[in-house]
Amino acid sequence: MTAGEHLAWWLSIGAVVAFLPYFPYSKHIHLFFAPINFALKPERRSIGELSYINLDDQTIEQFGAAKMKDLGWEQIMDSYACIMCFRCQEVCPAYNTGKVLSPAALEINKRYHFNNGGTTDVPMLDLISEEAVWACTSCGACVDICPVGNEPMRDILEIRRNLSMMESAFPKQLETAFKGMERNMNPGTSHRRARMKWADGLNVPTVEQNPEPEILWWVGCAPATDSRAQKTALAFAKILNAAGVNYAVLGKNEACTGDSARRAGREDIFFGLATQNVEILNEVGAKRIVTTCPHCLHTIKNEYPAFGGNYQVIHHTQLINELVGAGKIQLSVTSDQYKVTFHDPCYLGRHNKEVDAPRDALKSAGALTIEMPRNGAKSFCCGAGGAQMWKEEEQGTARVNVTRFTEAKSTGADTVAVGCPFCLTMMTDAAKGEDSPIQVKDVAEIVAERMQ
Ligand code: SF4
Ligand code: SF4
Repeated sequence: MTAGEHLAWWLSIGAVVAFLPYFPYSKHIHLFFAPINFALKPERRSIGELSYINLDDQTIEQFGAAKMKDLGWEQIMDSYACIMCFRCQEVCPAYNTGKVLSPAALEINKRYHFNNGGTTDVPMLDLISEEAVWACTSCGACVDICPVGNEPMRDILEIRRNLSMMESAFPKQLETAFKGMERNMNPGTSHRRARMKWADGLNVPTVEQNPEPEILWWVGCAPATDSRAQKTALAFAKILNAAGVNYAVLGKNEACTGDSARRAGREDIFFGLATQNVEILNEVGAKRIVTTCPHCLHTIKNEYPAFGGNYQVIHHTQLINELVGAGKIQLSVTSDQYKVTFHDPCYLGRHNKEVDAPRDALKSAGALTIEMPRNGAKSFCCGAGGAQMWKEEEQGTARVNVTRFTEAKSTGADTVAVGCPFCLTMMTDAAKGEDSPIQVKDVAEIVAERMQ
């Protein structure tokens, strides 16, 4: 009996000792690195907040990541923290629609590279293809779901910075958006002078007309210049005016926030736009900002503080709820409830953790909200984030917007409600493509329709 116990003990110890040389090369190394990764991750305002680069600093020689050594130490450590669970791949909208991008493969390739004796001198494009880099929508799902705090999206956006800034190697379709942001202060072709045209004949005060507003409405490029998104702006103006809100807009002085430029790697364009926007916002003394665009919300709230802009930024659905709660707008709710499913924008629900406000506003408008299988912070991207709005989708087996619209349709809802101008375009295009009778509307439009 004793001899048997001794034998088992030595066999166990032997197995552990035999495993030790293999340990650093196995996925089990995460047991050591995952807690360190979690403990030492830099604090971020949001999972999507990108690192600040001072473009006025002439000494910077490398923008973004050409080689692994250009990544932050915490990004390099991600590879050893990875448990190879593939959860990031499962939620990735690009991977789910047959694109070549797998965020898990990126982390695993980084680790195998080290295991095979490689150094940090390796080009990033040896670890992930250029096609995969441009397929990312910056939805943040991979970062959100990773159980060990890895951030594959951050690597991808750093690679884009190198490609766009150092090598001018970006999808050609992005050129129009880049030029638009530089010349017209919006990614489209509409002239800056025409930025207030959407409000012609409406009572929408600019800061010149109302210099001390309680609320600064950041209209955003799409609602100001795109004919479909303008309907959201019109509906929101109707709500604000009916509620007697003391607000103003920047008018022609509002420029694109630079969200798409930044996510496409053009930090120079973003830097110029952010600098001038913060300057004007500080000049007018904006404290509380409301916007119908989650990309504007994210950028102003989380990325402008690095430029000296610190504001309270809220989504229009949050303000709508305040106005309903204060009795400033009355909504006529009929007994024939209509069925609505809300598509959470990645930059609202996941990046900025706001999932209740749009649903509360819809309920106030008498809608019966039905949830899609993927909802809230676990929503599935519409396909337009990360500058995808301005380029063709990479080759795959399905389109991201069509995949999401099919999911919305499966709920049996009459209307797909959105809270983002990009989602509005993507869902509308998918509905049109299928000749579907399902309507796509912004929450503000649904609320404005119910106003007494
Ligand atoms: S951010 Fe979204 S699209 Fe990009 S790799 Fe992560 S999950 Fe995929
Ligand atoms: S979710 Fe995190 S741990 Fe799992 S494969 Fe992706 S990067 Fe690795």
